[in-house]
Amino acid sequence: MLDLIVKNGSIIDGSGMPAYRGDIAIKDGRISHIGQITAAAKVVVDASGKVVAPGFIDPHTHFDAQLLWDGHAKPSIEHGITTIVPGNCSLSLAPLKAEHRMKLVGMFNQIEEMPLVAFEKGVVWNWQTFDEYVERIRSNLSINVAPLVGHSALRLWVMGDAANERTASTAEITTMQQLLRECLDAGAVGMSTSFIDVDEKMQAVPCRYANNQELDGLCAVLGEFGRILQIVNEFFDVDLTLARIDQLAELSLKYNIPTTFSPLFVNNDEFANVDRMIARVEEQFARGARVWAQVQTRPIDISFCLEVPSLLFMRLPSWYRIIRFGNKEQIVAALGDSNTRKKLTEEAAFMGGLWPALVLRQVKHAKNQALVGKTLAEIARLQDSTPLDVMIDLSLEEDLQAHFLSADMGHNDVEKVGALLAHPNVMIGASDGGAHILSFATFGDTGHLLAQFVRRAGLLTLEQAIRKITFETAAIWGIEERGLLKNNYVADITIFDKETIDRGPEYFVQDVPGDGHRYVRDAIGIDTVIIGGEISYQKTSGYTDAQCGVILPGKVA
Ligand SMILES: [Zn+2]
Repeated sequence: MLDLIVKNGSIIDGSGMPAYRGDIAIKDGRISHIGQITAAAKVVVDASGKVVAPGFIDPHTHFDAQLLWDGHAKPSIEHGITTIVPGNCSLSLAPLKAEHRMKLVGMFNQIEEMPLVAFEKGVVWNWQTFDEYVERIRSNLSINVAPLVGHSALRLWVMGDAANERTASTAEITTMQQLLRECLDAGAVGMSTSFIDVDEKMQAVPCRYANNQELDGLCAVLGEFGRILQIVNEFFDVDLTLARIDQLAELSLKYNIPTTFSPLFVNNDEFANVDRMIARVEEQFARGARVWAQVQTRPIDISFCLEVPSLLFMRLPSWYRIIRFGNKEQIVAALGDSNTRKKLTEEAAFMGGLWPALVLRQVKHAKNQALVGKTLAEIARLQDSTPLDVMIDLSLEEDLQAHFLSADMGHNDVEKVGALLAHPNVMIGASDGGAHILSFATFGDTGHLLAQFVRRAGLLTLEQAIRKITFETAAIWGIEERGLLKNNYVADITIFDKETIDRGPEYFVQDVPGDGHRYVRDAIGIDTVIIGGEISYQKTSGYTDAQCGVILPGKVA
């Protein structure tokens, strides 16, 4: 008796081959046969009229903390994601000595906008080594996790406070190499580092104090295992990014490792920049190096309400200070005080193009509902006010729960982004899943890919897009036996309706430990998600409690 059959689907197997009609049989967590299946099964999923694809892989996330209280990494699975890569951008929660916990939490808070209270209320700190962390999340895992080791975490373990003061000695580099080896043995998929990030004191994160000898030594260890290096490049500077591409190429060739840099955005003011960077990536691939440019599908949108700090206010010190350090009553008092308000208005004046274009997206009070969807310029005209005053007045009326959207701040030229996503040296990713929870929803990027760039714009075929987010990602990251629908491969499968698949609208929910909020999106058109041969999510009935997630690539035998 089979465990499960997926019947009558349009199979897109991840290889790029055209879709074909067939059934898929699953036994003991693996695909046992594809074709016409008449044998009996315990469970039958009818996929008539639907696409049956390998589960999607999200290669750039920050679910390190969320996995400790939510083994599904919600809402990833309902968007069709079956494998996530946490530990990006030099930050992982292991290896981590007890005395360095708050230092690392400060970095997560500053860089990834993870609230401190979520760590306080949601995390029981009962691990130190990478192996212990992996065992900890494995005990309650519904999604597959391919965890990176953060270079800043490695450095902190070995050097303590000196980690962000100086370069490492030769002996310290040797100790870091040994520590990285232990992490890779315990199942890490690779290592991440950053060339731009700062901690909560605006000080460079530990990995930025590494010299070439240190990075070279760590890449030598990655080479022993053939594992990947992820970096955050100076994405705002094309020449520095070109230099990083060259540096990664040399490391890739010297140690025979794959490398990836993110983010790479299409900057609307300067299309030529992206062409230069991609040309350099092509040149390096032609030499035999592997330097994958990682590109996100969604445009840069930032949402906010005045109750919590937003990326948008980083350049407005008075606003940032009030919202970041004030409680609700203090923020309301500051916004209601005419002198403070005058000062805030003056400070915000230089971003004069931003405020009129903001869109009101969510309110609580019935009397303001009719304004939802309008720009602040439109509302200001109706109320004989100014956009900035409208923002403050609505926030006060709504008890700071008025939500605004700054849309299309870049990376929104469909033709140009689509061409990039289709490029053979580009990896589709960079969702930042689980991070920046108070600025935008990091979910639904694969739905957006299939809706915007495949269905609406026709810039990639469905087969090509699926291959990009399944087989190619698995192959680049060295994740074996997944990413294809093929006999004996593990049954990670996403079933969806190609006519409707999309990401739903962004909204604010209160589901973070400590009663914290975050932006999320629902999926549209995803029917069933199977992980390791078990149904993990179905549109009709929601999540199951199947704990079929594993650590990838897993312990070295
Ligand atoms: Zn990141």
